[in-house]
Amino acid sequence: MALIVQKYGGTSVGNPERIKNVAARVAQYRAQGDRLVVVVSAMSGVTDNLIKLAKEIMPLPAEREMDMLLATGEQTTIALTAMALQAIGVPAVSLTGAQAGIVTDRVHTKAKIQNITPRQVHALLDNGQVVIVAGFQGQTQEGQITTLGRGGSDLTAIALAAALKADLCQIFTDVDGVYTADPRVVPNARKLEEVAYDELLELAGAGAKVMQLRSVEFAKKFGVVFEVRSSLNDNPGTIVKEETKSMEGVVVRGVSLDKNQAKITVVAAPDRPGISARIFKVLSEAAINVDMIVQNVSHGAAKPTTDLSFTLDKPDLLKAQKVMDGLKTEIGFKAIIANENLAKLSIVGVGMRSHSGVAAKMFETLAAQDINIDMISTSEIKISVVIDLAKGEQAARAMHDAFVS
Ligand code: ADP
Ligand code: ASP
Ligand code: MG
Repeated sequence: MALIVQKYGGTSVGNPERIKNVAARVAQYRAQGDRLVVVVSAMSGVTDNLIKLAKEIMPLPAEREMDMLLATGEQTTIALTAMALQAIGVPAVSLTGAQAGIVTDRVHTKAKIQNITPRQVHALLDNGQVVIVAGFQGQTQEGQITTLGRGGSDLTAIALAAALKADLCQIFTDVDGVYTADPRVVPNARKLEEVAYDELLELAGAGAKVMQLRSVEFAKKFGVVFEVRSSLNDNPGTIVKEETKSMEGVVVRGVSLDKNQAKITVVAAPDRPGISARIFKVLSEAAINVDMIVQNVSHGAAKPTTDLSFTLDKPDLLKAQKVMDGLKTEIGFKAIIANENLAKLSIVGVGMRSHSGVAAKMFETLAAQDINIDMISTSEIKISVVIDLAKGEQAARAMHDAFVS
């Protein structure tokens, strides 16, 4: 008798019909004798709508209240999914993140899971129930509701699979698996049979939202092998696991495009020790994740100044601007410029470690499309460039043609 953790994303539970389909799929597994824990997301569009509602009340709502609001999305779905199972004669119980024993730190809207004590989950499984758990949410030690960052139901599933020592973890979504690029942007993208944690980490970090970045980090850390597959058909999915020798033969495994990035440029900041340290400390204290950082050459001999640019997630832009405004007098920079019209394009593959000339080919491909590069960053297995948002999709297709197909 296997213990399976399954996760169904927003589209997979997007309407009552789809929820009934999920129930039918779960019932099939249960009929084979498996024990099931089912993590569900909010119905598609619900989280976005809740965010929109909040912004209509005020532009920068308190993060504690955002969590209180956003957690309701998943709470709706767990109850409906439990009902759909009960309706076809399968005993099922819904649990919030807190009831499932998910304890997080206090960083509202981006909380990290600290530990899981799934006592109720075990008890219900022992009792023959299918356990439906709300994704994306947890609770602090003090009992405050938290959420785990956008796409966080993936993390709930992976973390529960680790805590329960599940035999199988399946992430059901609206695509057949992890593709060489977002199939919505690059129509000739191919499904990968398997992908290494490190590759998916870089792809997810570069904006491929098929899996939440932190969920992949967690899976790698705890060695959770999982499958990404479709809830809409029975095609085999993509297995995500530790790197194997055969994976190195491929130089570029995938291309990803992140249209959710913004850039802040700090104009004429004093060029002396401690300035960057101060800026990025204050940003990190506000839980703002900075991605790429570029500093220009210094100007002026007596009192040298420099421009400093960094990228961050678009939803954090308003908060970051506020934080930076607060530093203006203290640091004495001239101004900040915000830019939302950019995209980050990345190519990823463990095979890059042993191949040269990949960056040159990437830049040549962009040049041939007359696309200007704004920023560049590299890791051992990834090259990213920041480009004009309007040219993002065209660039992703050109890159896929050049490297993958
Ligand atoms: P869910 O609601 O199930 O969590 P998401 O919308 O978060 O689903 O993630 C699935 C989507 O990720 C797909 O519909 C696809 O457009 C997008 N995506 C981006 N990059 C990739 C990729 N490399 N492979 C597969 N899907 C991708
Ligand atoms: N409902 C949350 C979101 O839209 C979590 C998730 O879907 O995984 O981000
Ligand atoms: Mg998702």
